[in-house]
Amino acid sequence: MSHVVTSAGVSVAPEVDLLIAGAGPAGMTAALVASLEGLDVLLCEKSDQVGGTGSTSAGTLWIPENSQSRAAGFADSSEQADRYLSALIGEATNRELRNAYLQTGPTAIDYLCSRTDVQFLACGKHPDYRSNMPGAAVAGRAIMPEPFDGRLLGAEFWRVRPPVPEFMLFGGMMVGKADIPRLIGRFRSFANFIYSAKLFAHYLADRLKYTRGTRIMMGNALIGRLFYSLCKHKVPILFDAPIVDLTGDRRGVKGARLNIGGKEVSVKARKGVVLATGGYAHNKRFREAFMPQPVPEYSMSYNGNHGDGVDIGQRLGAAIAPERCTSGLWTPVSIVPRPDSTKGLFPHLVLDRAKPGLIAVNSAGRRFVNEAASYHDFALAMFESHKTAPSIPAWLICDADALEKYGLGVVYPGHRNPEKFVASGYLVSARTLEELARKIGADPGQLRATVLRYNGFADTGVDVDFGKGETELNRFNGDTEHKPNPCIGRVATAPFYALAVWPADIAVSTGLATDADARVLDIDGKPIRGLYACGNDMASVMAGSYPGPGTTLGPAIVFAYRAAMHAKSALL
Ligand SMILES: Cc1cc2nc3c(=O)[nH]c(=O)nc-3n(C[C@H](O)[C@H](O)[C@H](O)COP(=O)(O)OP(=O)(O)OC[C@H]3O[C@@H](n4cnc5c(N)ncnc54)[C@H](O)[C@@H]3O)c2cc1C
Repeated sequence: MSHVVTSAGVSVAPEVDLLIAGAGPAGMTAALVASLEGLDVLLCEKSDQVGGTGSTSAGTLWIPENSQSRAAGFADSSEQADRYLSALIGEATNRELRNAYLQTGPTAIDYLCSRTDVQFLACGKHPDYRSNMPGAAVAGRAIMPEPFDGRLLGAEFWRVRPPVPEFMLFGGMMVGKADIPRLIGRFRSFANFIYSAKLFAHYLADRLKYTRGTRIMMGNALIGRLFYSLCKHKVPILFDAPIVDLTGDRRGVKGARLNIGGKEVSVKARKGVVLATGGYAHNKRFREAFMPQPVPEYSMSYNGNHGDGVDIGQRLGAAIAPERCTSGLWTPVSIVPRPDSTKGLFPHLVLDRAKPGLIAVNSAGRRFVNEAASYHDFALAMFESHKTAPSIPAWLICDADALEKYGLGVVYPGHRNPEKFVASGYLVSARTLEELARKIGADPGQLRATVLRYNGFADTGVDVDFGKGETELNRFNGDTEHKPNPCIGRVATAPFYALAVWPADIAVSTGLATDADARVLDIDGKPIRGLYACGNDMASVMAGSYPGPGTTLGPAIVFAYRAAMHAKSALL
């Protein structure tokens, strides 16, 4: 691992084939593929760690017709995926990019699996987010990285940015979706007990040597695997070295300027520069220009993503892809008070909203959405509802039974002391629905009426207002044991709980316009020679929609691969 370079005191090669800015999933993939294809590569990263938002992500990739799923018995077809995208974003939208994405997706993944340590597994059943649309799949489109043993990185393990604290147990232990029922049921069977004890023993042993557990998974495993592969192939990574500008002009990019230890250093790039700096999430100007109103306060993106790539590209004359829709991919988040007085954001992705015994209301005390919709659609409904009644924040409401059985946000199922979360200000609780309504500033009579109506749906199993429980996606995240509708249960047992949720972006989708090879386009629609963008610096191929699990990491990796392959064959 000794080739990893920090900026302090290093002399940078003044000329390379390809310079890649940003060591997130997109930039790391571009650097890895370009290097394997024989290019002389330099990867520069603003911070002292790899991973960006990717390291805190779930790590799922949406790759229609991938071979990992086929081998696991889940057939899919890219024609069906295209039909689905047509239904979602229109037949013609981003046609060339979509074709390239669907054609190259499986090839790019197979390339990484056969040439590197970046390995993927089929997710199996993992429904598309508009699973009732033509062409949508219930299984076979999503893949996930294989868990990774961080010990393989030795002393460089600390360079893998850790997940957010809310996603780790005991201050540093990662658990996957499959671990959760076994850990919760650790006293219910001997097998579960042994499984949990082994996980914990592994973690304790890790903590003697490392600052966190080395059994890493999801997005963290993806980053660990990319980093390990880059290290193995001796691809130089220059840390603490942000790109600040490009050299050249709209007719052709010649290289870039990096800030190294406070000094600007020029690097020539014979084949070009790849912008992969993670998008504009923490850039106030771009947030105000692109995002829905009211401009959301919270972002789950890595806080070093200031839109540098988009800004640098725009200054050179690059076009920013206009968005028909939403300019970001969204989730509702709750605000978690941390012991050190900072605040964390907990994304309500899949664990609680679809479960029985929970509703979401706005300040009028009315439901405004199918609570089991995808996190993106849920958050968009908050913006929509806010036009008529304050809905930011909205409130997730459940009763004592649902809290105990399914949990809510960071209150995990079976938690013995929910009052602790009331005391910290995370949850609001009350003995009656009217009292709860008063505490959250909603109309007491209306909240009671809303709950009574919803309880009626629990008995019939049919939500005539919003259709909760009607789609494969809803039911997948519900409780299959619960009848008649796996997503609807009565809200009846005091105390009642409310939790405020706000919309936050997990990724941005407005970015630099590109062609199908990730070449950045100028404002006249012509490719700028020697300039590529991928990841969230590139305008999303999905045009701001969210078809299914893995909507940003899939394109990030596929277009990084295409950029590297294009650069390889680009004429000097
Ligand atoms: C909780 C959560 C779960 C998610 N789960 C999924 C999922 O399962 N599937 C999915 O598809 N997406 C998921 N996402 C979104 C996904 O993580 C991001 O879209 C993805 O990481 C973007 O990749 P990127 O390489 O563009 O940017 P990033 O991963 O953010 O990396 C950008 C890198 O660029 C560096 N950088 C910034 N500025 C500069 C500069 N000037 N010079 C050099 N380097 C710079 C940053 O330091 C960072 O290392 C999730 C996000 C969150 C928050």
